[in-house]
Amino acid sequence: MRFGDRELTYGALACAAGAAAERISGAGRVAVWATPTLETAVGVVAALLAGVPAVPLNPRTGERELAHIIQDSAPRLVLAAPDDELPPVLAALERIDIEAAAPGDKAGPGDKAGPGSMAGPGGAAGHVGAAGHGNPSGPVVRALPAEPGPETAALVVYTSGTTGPPKGAVLPRRAIAATLDALADAWGWTGDDVLVQALPLFHVHGLILGVLGPLRRGGAVRHLGRFSAEGVGRELGAGATMLFGVPTMYHRLAEAVDGDPELAKSLAGARLLVSGSAALPVHDHERIFAATGRRVVERYGMTETLMNTSVRVDGEPCPGSVGHPLPGVELRLVEEDGTEITALDGQAVGEIQVRGPNLFTGYLNRPDATAAAFDGDWFRTGDMAVRAPDGQVRIVGRKATDLIKSGGYKIGAGEIENALLEHPQVREAAVTGEPDDDLGERVVAWVVPADPARPPSGDELAGHVASQLAPHKRPRTVRFLDALPRNDMGKIMKRSLSRG
Ligand code: ATP
Ligand code: MG
Repeated sequence: MRFGDRELTYGALACAAGAAAERISGAGRVAVWATPTLETAVGVVAALLAGVPAVPLNPRTGERELAHIIQDSAPRLVLAAPDDELPPVLAALERIDIEAAAPGDKAGPGDKAGPGSMAGPGGAAGHVGAAGHGNPSGPVVRALPAEPGPETAALVVYTSGTTGPPKGAVLPRRAIAATLDALADAWGWTGDDVLVQALPLFHVHGLILGVLGPLRRGGAVRHLGRFSAEGVGRELGAGATMLFGVPTMYHRLAEAVDGDPELAKSLAGARLLVSGSAALPVHDHERIFAATGRRVVERYGMTETLMNTSVRVDGEPCPGSVGHPLPGVELRLVEEDGTEITALDGQAVGEIQVRGPNLFTGYLNRPDATAAAFDGDWFRTGDMAVRAPDGQVRIVGRKATDLIKSGGYKIGAGEIENALLEHPQVREAAVTGEPDDDLGERVVAWVVPADPARPPSGDELAGHVASQLAPHKRPRTVRFLDALPRNDMGKIMKRSLSRG
């Protein structure tokens, strides 16, 4: 694996993680100061080896949120890179510096363990350890407790906080193994793949898919440290086979690829371009397709459920679709009154509920929230969708923020956002509902104009939406902003969009 210009072989990783694992063995929970570095990857693998749940912390998060997470998850130790400066709120924790290069490690490039070795967290084999996979530090491994079982908590990952304060999702090793193996099946992901990514490591996408994924397959990962279209182009041009990104990254690639034939060539040469964590705007999907001939594959998941659906590598990626349920995942759409929608008509909107081995065990310290999130063994995602005749899932939006009940219609914010983004004078758009005496709720558009000096008129945008979709979907109010409020995953924080 390589982070920026620092590289670690499988042998060195096993050695470094084994050494750290010995120090944290029996620690209860450990926090990991999750900068996008080798040290974070080593720290998390060390926790997996030791069978100690790791709580990745967002280094950019505010002190108050950090204090909440520390109080909630109560770790005894914090793992960090030797150079990291930790905020005062972590002062009470014992600090363990992670050495990301094992002293004296002579393993050369290409020293790779086989698939399913490091960080293969559980599953049928339940095997994580480095023992027997070229780890030179046998005694370290022998000092560890017995192999943790598949239901042992591997990670406590806090949700993105898009709709409220982040909740700690307890993820057992079984869920991580199940999701990574299902993705391998859907994407033809093997040890020959070289992944390029620039995602934060305190969420599922960057950490589980983007680091543990390649390790479970026995493949390679190149983390850019910081996202840039140029860095993505360079790595794909140099042989990387897959790119994982969030929609804001694909937006930047869509902007950059126009007029950059080298970048277009690199993207076209990738085996797989994957987007997730939020809906990929149709406009950006189409722009990338027009410039490269490649369609971005969308997958849909959550912290609580890991991955639920994906377009398959041999499937037909079409804009706006998140594909089919992954192997092992059962998915149903449920109406507000609890009736299951059986029609595959692309019209009937229901809440996505899922069950399968990919699910978390519950929210930390929140039995009520956990109970409320389940209907029997079905997890209520809070996401609304329709299913096309071929079974593909199309997400309409979140029940809480993206479904607008206006004049007797249920209107999804997403399709209006997609329509607005196709207007040449619109750079970014978000749609919300606001109380309206006449309509119940009214469609409100929040728009970042392409040229702030010449914003389009509200009437122009309303007319554009009415002509693309239907008159009742047109925004009744349009508000202009310099930028949309987004969190660290680039997700639009709709709860921060309010009148004023
Ligand atoms: P919180 O639960 O704290 O409000 P969050 O739901 O954004 O935050 P995550 O678990 O990181 O936290 O995100 C999961 C959500 O992201 C899903 O419920 C869904 O709304 C959205 N999402 C993920 N992938 C996609 C996708 N491909 N298309 C549309 N939405 C997606
Ligand atoms: Mg959520």
